[in-house]
Amino acid sequence: MSVDLISLTQLKTELANHHAKLVAVSKTKPVTDILKVYETGHKLFGENYVQELTDKYKVLPKDIEWNFIGHLQSNKVKIIAPFISLIHGVDSLNLLKEIDKHALKNNRVINCLMQVHIAEEESKFGFSFDECLQVFNSGELKNFKNVNVCGLMGMATFTDDTFQLKKEFHTLQNLYTQLNTKQYGLTILSMGMTSDYKIALECGSNMVRIGSAIFGERNKQ
Ligand SMILES: *Cc1c(COP(=O)(O)O)cnc(C)c1O
Repeated sequence: MSVDLISLTQLKTELANHHAKLVAVSKTKPVTDILKVYETGHKLFGENYVQELTDKYKVLPKDIEWNFIGHLQSNKVKIIAPFISLIHGVDSLNLLKEIDKHALKNNRVINCLMQVHIAEEESKFGFSFDECLQVFNSGELKNFKNVNVCGLMGMATFTDDTFQLKKEFHTLQNLYTQLNTKQYGLTILSMGMTSDYKIALECGSNMVRIGSAIFGERNKQ
């Protein structure tokens, strides 16, 4: 399977109607595929693995906005700190502290999303609803001068049960709304992938992370 530019165009129209941004998830895909999408004018790409992202960053055009969407280990923050534009999966204050430290070293402010655990599955990382609320309300985020926590990210359960998906996305939407009622100034609600993005959009997502609908099925690692 290769890049599906027709789907990409349709997807972009659909997302524009919802004022949502597209992160084109290019993990496991070769740079030639990324360039095909880039040449349509798309600049926002998401990757899950630090080494793969760094290798691609080195050879691809420098105006690409790279988003890290995977699980980030603290000891790897320094590798992506010089160039990463948004980190979606912040799931601990410790990680945030590390991002802050390396952002400072690079004289930048790094945009971050707090990952919230909304799925039923145990394996998915993230703060619980209450923990996340607590982190914001504690005022601790102010200590991190070189990170800008600008939104929330969540992954729903891997299911085709629409009711369940809606319930999970609504939970995250509620948290986002609650936090903004308290003027935390969040602007990004990152939820929805190939299989569930339509439901995520209905639930207020303004950033979807889509891989297979654009690039075809994932290649083996
Ligand atoms: C891989 C991945 C995606 C994209 O998944 P598709 O089903 O290919 O659209 C989105 N978000 C995260 C966190 C991912 O790891």
